[in-house]
Amino acid sequence: MKNENLSRSEARRRSELIEVENYDVALDLRGVLDPESTGYISRSVITFKCNEPGAGTFVDFIHDGIHSVMLNGIQLDSDAVVDGSRIHLADLAAENQVTIVGTALYSRSGEGLHRFVDPADGRIYLYTQYEPADARRVFANFEQPDLKASFTFNVAAPSDWQVSSNSPLAVCEEMASTPGFSIRRFAPTQPISTYITTVLAGPYHFVEDSWKRTLADGTELQVPLGTYCRASLAEAFDAAEIFAITKAGLDFFHELFEYPYPFGKYEQAFVPEYNLGAMENPGLVTFTETYVFKSRATDAQYQARGNTIMHEMAHMWFGNLVTMQWWDDLWLKESFADYMGSLALVEATAWKDAWVAFANRRKAWAYVQDQLPTTHPIVADIRDLEAAKQNFDGITYAKGASVLKQLVAYVGFDAFISAARQYFRDNAYANTTLDDFLTVLSEASGRDMRRWSSLWLQTAGISTLVPEIEYDGDRLARVRLLQDAIDPVTARTVDRPHRLRLGLYDFDASGALVRTDSVELDLADSETDVPELAGRPTPALLLVNDDDLTYAKVRFDAASLQTVLSALDKVTDPLARALCWSTLWNMTRDGLLAPADYLGAVDRFAPAESDNGVLQVLLDCAGTALDRYLPAVERTAQRERFVDSVRMQLGKATAGSDQQLTWARSLAALSRSTPRYAGTIADLLSGSESVGGLALDSDLRWRFWQALAATGHATQEQLDTELASDLTAAGRAGHVTAMTARPDPAVKAQAWADAVTGSELSNQLLDATIDGFTAAGHVLLDPYVEPYFQSIESVWAQKSIEIASRIVRGFYPLVQDLEPGAEPRQHAVVVRTDEWLAGHSDAPAALRRIIIEQRDHLLRALTVQRRQLVQAF
Ligand SMILES: [Zn+2]
Repeated sequence: MKNENLSRSEARRRSELIEVENYDVALDLRGVLDPESTGYISRSVITFKCNEPGAGTFVDFIHDGIHSVMLNGIQLDSDAVVDGSRIHLADLAAENQVTIVGTALYSRSGEGLHRFVDPADGRIYLYTQYEPADARRVFANFEQPDLKASFTFNVAAPSDWQVSSNSPLAVCEEMASTPGFSIRRFAPTQPISTYITTVLAGPYHFVEDSWKRTLADGTELQVPLGTYCRASLAEAFDAAEIFAITKAGLDFFHELFEYPYPFGKYEQAFVPEYNLGAMENPGLVTFTETYVFKSRATDAQYQARGNTIMHEMAHMWFGNLVTMQWWDDLWLKESFADYMGSLALVEATAWKDAWVAFANRRKAWAYVQDQLPTTHPIVADIRDLEAAKQNFDGITYAKGASVLKQLVAYVGFDAFISAARQYFRDNAYANTTLDDFLTVLSEASGRDMRRWSSLWLQTAGISTLVPEIEYDGDRLARVRLLQDAIDPVTARTVDRPHRLRLGLYDFDASGALVRTDSVELDLADSETDVPELAGRPTPALLLVNDDDLTYAKVRFDAASLQTVLSALDKVTDPLARALCWSTLWNMTRDGLLAPADYLGAVDRFAPAESDNGVLQVLLDCAGTALDRYLPAVERTAQRERFVDSVRMQLGKATAGSDQQLTWARSLAALSRSTPRYAGTIADLLSGSESVGGLALDSDLRWRFWQALAATGHATQEQLDTELASDLTAAGRAGHVTAMTARPDPAVKAQAWADAVTGSELSNQLLDATIDGFTAAGHVLLDPYVEPYFQSIESVWAQKSIEIASRIVRGFYPLVQDLEPGAEPRQHAVVVRTDEWLAGHSDAPAALRRIIIEQRDHLLRALTVQRRQLVQAF
């Protein structure tokens, strides 16, 4: 029986009982070069106090066999004390030392100590990823954030490898017993939580630099910098650019936080098959290596990387120095880091438009998630680790950050920052809850933040702000803002206080749509009058939430909608334009704007979109509208019209521009579902046709091959030939996607067997398989609806939560058509989902959450389809 799921109450009990002083951890990786070896010996020596001598507790360790457990010098009977992933310790003394030796497994799921063999050169790379609770896959520990301790790591590994950890290397000794191997002993860390400890090992390419700064008290702070990637990526690695952003960030955060960087060195490693964007391990941040751009990348991609670098750096203070007590307050660090990521880009780099990307991408994520039935308050009720794992979501990150942005507008930036400074000083190396932050914020702002907090942080759902206008000829007679906000969890109305701006836009002499005036106001009720606007000439566009200060779904008044649909490209301000796009997309999702009208707007105005990140989002949304929101009867014609336009824009875009690359990627994405440009794509791949300035590098080549494969225009032999010329990690994943995209029932059956019933796929190749499996539309996938519902429980029981979550989410039959006259809720897949949910009320909450969310995405799409069908007939 698995007993990995630590509960909040167990954690609370343990932190009342014990105080951990230090860990001495030894990892013996001497067998790592043997491809057959699955695990390694891990020894953990934990020194801790017990506040109630005589009482007992347990240590966490997800292992493949325990060799010995010694408590206070006495060898314990492993059979008696080891219970699954818990090792029970009874009759504790006031001062204790436990030594646990066992075998830990290398990971292929990205959780714990991940081992990756580079297909380019056969070299082996290791790194760790622990949040929220996977340090226990590597060494025995008390796995909860509020049991901070000092960690000393010792690693036996090949002498010619790079080996790193949170703190600097103290000693490196050749192992006389094992020639070619060394033990690296790292200096003890500051007091930190288990989930941010880390070890990196492998023949990594390493580049060094350093940063220094004179602090306010006159002392000099010198921080050694380093950055890693796989050796086979070294040529593409722009370490100098990464260091430049890092130094700008360190300067910025020192100025802002007035607290010196507390963790000695600052290294950043870009690692393979990484499950997320990055992880803020103090002293050694890990990032996905998709941020090492081997193929041409757009400025929006570089900006996203810069944002992640800043986000992780902000965590050094918010998260690492001061840490949440339990996962309920995960948002406290993630919202803050997310907000700081954009702020640091705007203030400290050349990306002055970073709030546009924030409005367009991060907020869109939050808006979608906050309308799902599983939404929750930002301050979540996280009862156990499984719930914690599901909570790294759009609410915790993007809504939290959006609400912090609103908080800054509400209390003022200076009060916000002075509260943060106080918070760091008061709580350094300790753990906190929301209350600790609200206390300093109330002091700094002179406002009682409890009410604000209860309305914004402790309720769920999104407010919709609707302007209601009465006219007097060509003037505004009366403008009111209506707030519609129901908390879906409590079903109560929530009148949140919003600090926001109304922007008035008109055409200037050159035909540009520019802001001519604005009003900033506090809105606190379900209805707020804006008397300042009475008597003014009616603007062409009234933009609610101009400058994107608050977090809300907004609507246009009828005249403004007309303006936007006829002249969106004339709005010169990129943030205002992004807000208009976001409003149109929310209307489409809500069935208030026909998907065909959204596609029409993208078709007409996207070519003029100067912000490449926005363009990418528009084209992605257009893809969703085509695949899922349009009724089947309209789909083919709309798709062909749209892909024609994308092909035309690809031809017209400036040679070598980001826009050109974005149109090319869009052509590839759309061509997975239509063979209309299969000939063109084949010619581009073979070189018999070209688009001036468009580099057919490996990333784009694989996107094109996947499109051809999905429509049956690529043979296995062709795909194998392409792989032979790009035998890299990314090439191998690209090949898997193309192979599984082929519209052949036998191919789909194999993909299903590999991913769902098999257990060999790594996280990266699993994603590639899902991407290919679902690439070719849904007819071939219909036979998998029933097997899906039959297998998800066993998938959940047998696989790690990371892998199981990807399978359950990725294979859900999301793309469906509604027959004319049919009811969305009666659709066979919705009905089958409801049956499963009804029959599995006791299934793990995290599994049910994914199913409930996927059902809601499906139901929303079918509902939008039905509106179109009803209007058409
Ligand atoms: Zn983060």
